[in-house]
Amino acid sequence: MDKKFQKIRNDFPILNQKVNGEPLVYLDNAATSQKPQVVIDEMVRFYQNDNANTHRSVHTLGERATEEYEAARVKVQKFINAASSREIVFTKGTTDGLNLVASTYGENNVVAGDEIVVSYMEHHSNLIPWQQLALRKHATLKYIELTADGQLDLNDANQKITNKTKIVALTQTSNVLGVTNDIKQLAIMAHDHNAVIVADGAQAVPHQPVDVQALDADFYAFSGHKMLGPMGIGVLYGKSNLLKSMPPYQFGGEMIDFVEKYQSSWADIPWKFEAGTQNVAGAIGLGKAIDYLKDIGMQNIADYENQLVDYALPKLLAIPGLTVYGPQDPQYRNGVISFNLTGLHPHDLATALDMDGIAVRAGHHCAQPLMKYLDVVATARASFYLYNNQADIDQLIRAIYETKEFFRL
Ligand code: PMP
Repeated sequence: MDKKFQKIRNDFPILNQKVNGEPLVYLDNAATSQKPQVVIDEMVRFYQNDNANTHRSVHTLGERATEEYEAARVKVQKFINAASSREIVFTKGTTDGLNLVASTYGENNVVAGDEIVVSYMEHHSNLIPWQQLALRKHATLKYIELTADGQLDLNDANQKITNKTKIVALTQTSNVLGVTNDIKQLAIMAHDHNAVIVADGAQAVPHQPVDVQALDADFYAFSGHKMLGPMGIGVLYGKSNLLKSMPPYQFGGEMIDFVEKYQSSWADIPWKFEAGTQNVAGAIGLGKAIDYLKDIGMQNIADYENQLVDYALPKLLAIPGLTVYGPQDPQYRNGVISFNLTGLHPHDLATALDMDGIAVRAGHHCAQPLMKYLDVVATARASFYLYNNQADIDQLIRAIYETKEFFRL
């Protein structure tokens, strides 16, 4: 495997520790990623040297903080190839961005009898905002089915997206099934019916090149913490004509143009959507994470993670009693692998693996309708990132066999 990636591990101080007496094997990257030293240092540097509130002071620190915050916005714009930095709204994360769209665009454009289309593989954060909007508006929520191997059924998407559809809200990459959906194709379907497409990019942006203009997504949300950046910062991309047409999400400082006693007018996009003091250090940390990812190259990261999947999947599939959810062919998958071991609750499996220093997730992964669809209560999930390697996978496989032996499965 690529030598360059072996060295990357040294950039992440947290990985250099023992857990329960064993070297840490961190395989919970779909939940959150670890941070390279450069990102940690950048945030410390900001707080040590430049900390001030943005956009509201003429003093030097205030100007520096504003400049760095806005420079981070431009980094995000270039990273996902948005047409303008005005189309980049800083949020708390994916959840916040998706709620923003539902509460503003959704609130203004969905009426009784309209349809909102989601899929069975949505994370709750790309599901509940639409479910609640549909309930408020007496609109109908429709679910696109999955194929037998857990991919989005594009034929069913074609059926479900109709002239009644106002919003199509879909994840680009599933946080459970390890599949990536063809957002470009789905955007064409949505646009053919004058609907907008809202893409959840939480699991895609950290792992592959994303070009929002090529995808022709109307809205695209993602989180900083899953892409080596800090928690509490995220991004909502929206096409500028749509963002301009939307009412503000929250009201308060910084999002206004003029405030009179009984009425107010709003700042331009994107600031109209950034009420109150923002997570400036978070945005700057995210900007540094983007520099770091770009240095390595998003395609290189995607290729490397594919190599990890090619290595891991056959080994997992060969374990007697272990079921892998989603496609069994590595070419249709990315580095999120959910599985269950017959006879053992996934929480017990995850606890047993933790005893060996291996961090995997167990639960419903904020995707309860999907769990029901798969007819399971929960799964264990190993998810890879650029600092994982074959040795991590070997450890995982060995520990699963040991767990089987221990529980006599
Ligand atoms: N969508 C997907 C596909 C996710 O995996 C996650 C995080 N698990 C989210 C949305 C929500 O992201 P956040 O918690 O950062 O808002």
